[in-house]
Amino acid sequence: AASSSASTVRQVKLDRESELRIEVGYDSSLRLRLLNGTAEIFGTELPPEIWLTFPPRLKFAVFTWYGATIELDGSTETDYTADETPMISYVNVHAILDGRRNRAKASSSDGSSTVQGPRVIVVGPTDSGKSTLSRMLLSWAAKQGWKPTFVDLDIGQGSITLPGCIAATPIEMPIDPVEGIPLEMPLVYFYGHTTPSNNVELYKILVRELSQLLERQFAGNIESRAAGMVINTMGWIEGIGYELLLHAIDTFNINVVLVLGQEKLCSMLRDVLKNKPDVDVVKLQRSGGVVSRNVKYRQKARSLRIREYFYGRINDLSPHSNIASFSDLLVYRIGGGPQAPRSALPIGAEPAADPTRLVPVNINQDLLHLVLAVSFAKEPEEILSSNVAGFIYITDIDIQRKKITYLAPAAGDLPSKYLIVGTLTWIET
Ligand code: ATP
Repeated sequence: AASSSASTVRQVKLDRESELRIEVGYDSSLRLRLLNGTAEIFGTELPPEIWLTFPPRLKFAVFTWYGATIELDGSTETDYTADETPMISYVNVHAILDGRRNRAKASSSDGSSTVQGPRVIVVGPTDSGKSTLSRMLLSWAAKQGWKPTFVDLDIGQGSITLPGCIAATPIEMPIDPVEGIPLEMPLVYFYGHTTPSNNVELYKILVRELSQLLERQFAGNIESRAAGMVINTMGWIEGIGYELLLHAIDTFNINVVLVLGQEKLCSMLRDVLKNKPDVDVVKLQRSGGVVSRNVKYRQKARSLRIREYFYGRINDLSPHSNIASFSDLLVYRIGGGPQAPRSALPIGAEPAADPTRLVPVNINQDLLHLVLAVSFAKEPEEILSSNVAGFIYITDIDIQRKKITYLAPAAGDLPSKYLIVGTLTWIET
């Protein structure tokens, strides 16, 4: 049963194949260490005896295959032990993927053929544990020396970078249970909104751009091609959400679809993919430990994620406040706005919004508190297909002096003057 506990040091003994599910308290962090035995957090082994500090609100589980004793220091919102988990089925999937990686590597080194490494997509409704399963599969693979590519198509949360983005990064080491995925050099495309319905066409274009870029990287790197990729998706599985899943499966040339916790979605996918014999659709159980998060929690999580980008998870980064002249920066919005003036259209026709049109944006108060992406584009025409270097946050607009004040991860000039704006906002707290 769930329990709220006072701030005291205590020990929890875990039997084999069981886990301790924890929700850290809202206002205080939690210290935890492995006293004896072996245990892992979402696929990453805990070092023996070293205290780890988990930030407020974090929800996670310490799982053991053979038994362990855990020591906790600090208060939790909840902590309880569960001995029913789907971990065996998850690790079986890992074993199959590992076999495919070995075969892919062997086939590319003896030159006989080019077998693809596993290209896995994890799908399912919201709060089915997609991010968590992706993470486990990546960490288990990394533990065995592979460097699989993690692709995050979930613009709602963003495990690699900010919400509103799709991104990819190689996972070279098991993912740190506290730090998460290292932010060094991910490949990021800025979509600019936290729901795909804002501009479905743009979302698809960016997915395609990302897949083509990865394909080029794989072509030159046998190791990462064999290691393959794990793709995390959005929880939106109806209507356009479903259409976007099919689009991703097709675009990334997926060969393994893992469906978490939904019979209906699984049978629909099996049905549409039945004429593609090299695509396996595998149904997996949702873990009872996955915590449901409401709209408010998700908003809060998004906001914390943006804060983390600038300040670091434990306030270990120091962003820089910079001032620029309006004329130094060129801000664009992608999509929206009528393609042709109404006067140029036949009477009665509505001007259609072109989802890929690049619209120059006037710098004014409307940009206040928005998060903008800094494009790698060298020319405006390249903006749509370019990935981004990073983000800035607009903190002040001085119309009279034509000055803009923004927060950036570092001091100095931005890598480019081309900025992309969407609807991603943040109120610094
Ligand atoms: P969404 O599509 O809504 O982004 P999701 O399907 O990716 O969600 P996760 O992010 O994997 O779901 O899980 C939801 C929350 O539950 C996360 O905070 C995660 O850390 C937590 N969680 C997952 N599995 C467990 C577990 N076994 N014990 C405790 N917490 C867990």
